[in-house]
Amino acid sequence: MITDLRSDTFTKPSPAMLEAMFTASVGDDVFGEDPSVNKLEHMAAEMFKMEAGLFCPSGTMTNQIAIKVHTQPGDEVICENLSHVYIYEGGGIAFNSGCQVKAIKGDRGRLHALAVSEAVNPSDIHKARTSLVSLENTANRGGGSCYSFADIQQIKEVCSQNNLKLHLDGARLWNAMVAKKETASQYGEIFDSISICLSKGLGTPVGSVLLGTKDYIQKARRVRKVFGGGMRQAGYLAAAGIYALENNIDRLAEDHFHAQQITGALTKKNWVGEIMPVETNIIIFEVLAPFSPKSLADKLAEFGIQVMPISTTQVRMVTHLDITTEMVKNLINIIGTL
Ligand SMILES: *Cc1c(COP(=O)(O)O)cnc(C)c1O
Repeated sequence: MITDLRSDTFTKPSPAMLEAMFTASVGDDVFGEDPSVNKLEHMAAEMFKMEAGLFCPSGTMTNQIAIKVHTQPGDEVICENLSHVYIYEGGGIAFNSGCQVKAIKGDRGRLHALAVSEAVNPSDIHKARTSLVSLENTANRGGGSCYSFADIQQIKEVCSQNNLKLHLDGARLWNAMVAKKETASQYGEIFDSISICLSKGLGTPVGSVLLGTKDYIQKARRVRKVFGGGMRQAGYLAAAGIYALENNIDRLAEDHFHAQQITGALTKKNWVGEIMPVETNIIIFEVLAPFSPKSLADKLAEFGIQVMPISTTQVRMVTHLDITTEMVKNLINIIGTL
């Protein structure tokens, strides 16, 4: 039995999720005729009290479509300097949208309103036109950190004053909402677009949904086709998303609890340096002698535990729905022996 803590993307569909997929009613979604895709898009939009949704193969695609629709070539996008849209999407902002990025160093992946306001370019023909701010919640490279909602509201203020659109990369937004006891409609009210991933903590094999106004999603639908993301009988995949929204949200609290337990065990070890505050399901910690991130990963692999070295000094562990309480206990025992 392998305990795979490298990412919450490693989950496999449960028998019940597979059953929902096998029995889905489907049609051609490029023609808008897949009932399961339509249902998922409506369901997600309704949860967030936003007008419309668009099902896409990946969170990279929902983010990239979102940015494309909000911007014009030559514009500037403000984001945190460890954000996924900036460091993990293959230079997509430049490639797909012809925009440049102003990446600001924030606090564990989170931006502050003052820094955003200082980063907005003045209206001056020498300067790129700032048109979009993109936030990430939870922040992946921030160790799964969550924004305080008040901070988001202040950033929204800055956007409103400067006529900027506000996008949310909510790949793990449900982790944040569960941890902070927030509601989806709070987010729907404040953001112009939200990307949510179904294939992270929610455990589907594939899929993300982009949310926005009807008009915005209509434009996004065109861009999805251009990007090659129009899928035909995608309802088999959407059915997994519907299942996940109905069954896999509340249980995220269990992943957070497991992450706390593992952190407790790590705290006692002298080969563990700084541990980033663990707010959700991601644990990022500094590895000290006698281990290096690589040698620690190799050592744990001997016990069937997979973790991810993410820098020359840090290892990441991510809990998810395929990590059981048994596996966590076993891991804690193993950590104790090292
Ligand atoms: C995983 C992830 C995405 C989307 O990734 P895909 O692999 O393209 O689905 C976007 N943002 C963040 C923060 C992520 O962790």
